[in-house]
Amino acid sequence: MTFDFSKVEFEEVNCIICKSKTQQKKLLSTKDLLCGMPGSFSIVECQKCGLVFQNPRPKEKYIGHYYPDDLGYFNIQKNENEEIDSLTKKVLIDYYKYSNLGKKNLLRKIILYPAYYYLYKHRSIPKFRQNGTILEIGCSNGLALKKLKNLQWKVKGIEINKKAADYAKNERELDVEIGSIFDFNFEPSSFDVIILDMVLEHIYNPEQAIKKISKWLKKDGQLIFSLPYFYGFEFSVFKEFSHSLHLPAHITFFNKNAIAHLLGRFSDINYVFHHFDRDIVASAEYKYQNNHNWVLKQIAKNKLLRWTIIKPLVFVMSLFKKTSRITVFATKN
Ligand SMILES: [Zn+2]
Repeated sequence: MTFDFSKVEFEEVNCIICKSKTQQKKLLSTKDLLCGMPGSFSIVECQKCGLVFQNPRPKEKYIGHYYPDDLGYFNIQKNENEEIDSLTKKVLIDYYKYSNLGKKNLLRKIILYPAYYYLYKHRSIPKFRQNGTILEIGCSNGLALKKLKNLQWKVKGIEINKKAADYAKNERELDVEIGSIFDFNFEPSSFDVIILDMVLEHIYNPEQAIKKISKWLKKDGQLIFSLPYFYGFEFSVFKEFSHSLHLPAHITFFNKNAIAHLLGRFSDINYVFHHFDRDIVASAEYKYQNNHNWVLKQIAKNKLLRWTIIKPLVFVMSLFKKTSRITVFATKN
């Protein structure tokens, strides 16, 4: 039986950071370009604190209908490589304190710096801790958790999508439970590391979520999360065609001010900008579908252009903190 989307109720919300209700400016309306779900969705910018968020938004009880089971992040790809290759091992030893994998080497560390910077720095990799425990919230089919388990972490995952969670449990033999953050009550100080990869922007109440997470983390524990970042190049150029917009699934587009507000009990907050060219390519593709512009077609389809111009350009933009995804690293006080 298919769901009748005309039944979805929407709600108006205050800014989650400064609680302002009235000072909101509408930025744009757009359709669900990723999954093609019916409806039109809007984002606003709080004029008081600058936060961008979806408003109005579907009430939470309906949002599950906007996540088709075949959505990318729940997909199971056969033959996903769970092994740790030798370059990764060396980088883990020299940059992430994985003393369990071998001895540090200063010369090698210097030589590996470009590889570390380009291939690893933006990834949600925790610094190693002996007998350390990790919780991944929104662990999907468990690929990242499995790799961490192979690196001698004790791992646990929670995942809202049953199909993905079942795969993590049954095929990867991981300790994964089905549900959202708000379905669980772990003991305080249970984990050394908590990871949320592209999750927080989907959560209806991120402030409460971070409060819970913060309790579950040990003192000096590492919180690592990645997010779409609205305040970069992709959104200013592609606007409603931006790939990272993904309405209505994305609820909040955090800025640094909002992240600092959420992370009141954390220190050493570090932002790493990704150089993920897919966001530009996919945005160009969406816009090309709309206006059939030749330049956009080249950006979307021309592989030579992608490798010679777009990838280097996106890398340079990441140096200027202008790309549309970030990973945030923070330590609990
Ligand atoms: Zn605000």
